[in-house]
Amino acid sequence: MESADTRVAIITGGAGGIGQAMARRMIVDGHRLALMDIDGDAAARVAAAINQEAGTNGVFAIGGDVSQTADCERAVAQTADAFGQVDIVVNNAGFGASKIRPDGEKNLLTLEELTPEVWHQFFSVNIDGPLQMIRAALPGMRTRGWGRIINVTTSFFTMLRNMPYGASKAALEAGSAAWAQELDGTGITVNVVVPGGPTDTPFIAPESGLDPAKMLRPDVMGPPVAWLCSRDADNVTGQRFIGGKWDPALPDSEAATIAGSPAGWPELAASTVIWPDD
Ligand code: NAD
Repeated sequence: MESADTRVAIITGGAGGIGQAMARRMIVDGHRLALMDIDGDAAARVAAAINQEAGTNGVFAIGGDVSQTADCERAVAQTADAFGQVDIVVNNAGFGASKIRPDGEKNLLTLEELTPEVWHQFFSVNIDGPLQMIRAALPGMRTRGWGRIINVTTSFFTMLRNMPYGASKAALEAGSAAWAQELDGTGITVNVVVPGGPTDTPFIAPESGLDPAKMLRPDVMGPPVAWLCSRDADNVTGQRFIGGKWDPALPDSEAATIAGSPAGWPELAASTVIWPDD
């Protein structure tokens, strides 16, 4: 049975490992979900499987590429057609080094490999995509005075190591902190969720040499995302939650305190020497 807290969400990259895990957790709370993915067939298979498991028809698939503004706008329009509105955008679709070279997570991409085309591919999916998804969904959220933007970035360790993936995710992290401030007081929150390390999904190709058994499980992302979508998190914005540190055995507020910190790097921002006022 749906409660007043049930919402409509788009999860980008919804056919992938983490997207599926978040969808499986969110459907339990009665939210209705659009799984948008560049692999529309895979998204359709995942949507059908989750509908069957959950005994619902609350999940549907949209084929679309987040790097294309028209696809972002179409995804929001299709979701609103199906479910009336879009309350939650989970920017989860991601482009990683394994897509350029299967061993790219182990032998990092070199400067010589970072052609303008390669550089642009990472940024168009990992930061342009989330921005255009937010812009497409924002008018409806503003009208209703309620919204959730949840951005999946990555570990700070990776941001400073793995180019250009790390730089594109650092851009999304910085955008999350800035947009949370811009939207403060509107009822629309902006937060970051990360797993906290390599996670066992197709994102990390076997050629990475990393042992999947030692990686995080994608379902660590479910509990923080579910909580962020609830009314309990109405006043939570500009924060970053590490799924691998979230203890589902604790009450959500306690788990959030342990797993959470401000998004971005505000402690470094504090080192600015002067900021002249007009
Ligand atoms: P995944 O490869 O299993 O899933 C990613 C999904 O995004 C795929 O279904 C893919 O088809 C889709 N996608 C890719 N480009 C797209 C585009 N342009 N438009 C729409 N969909 C697109 O990977 P995952 O591990 O589930 O990754 C989800 C997110 O988590 C990514 O943003 C990734 O950067 C982030 N992340 C992953 C890890 C990890 O170790 N797996 C760690 C930290 C953060």
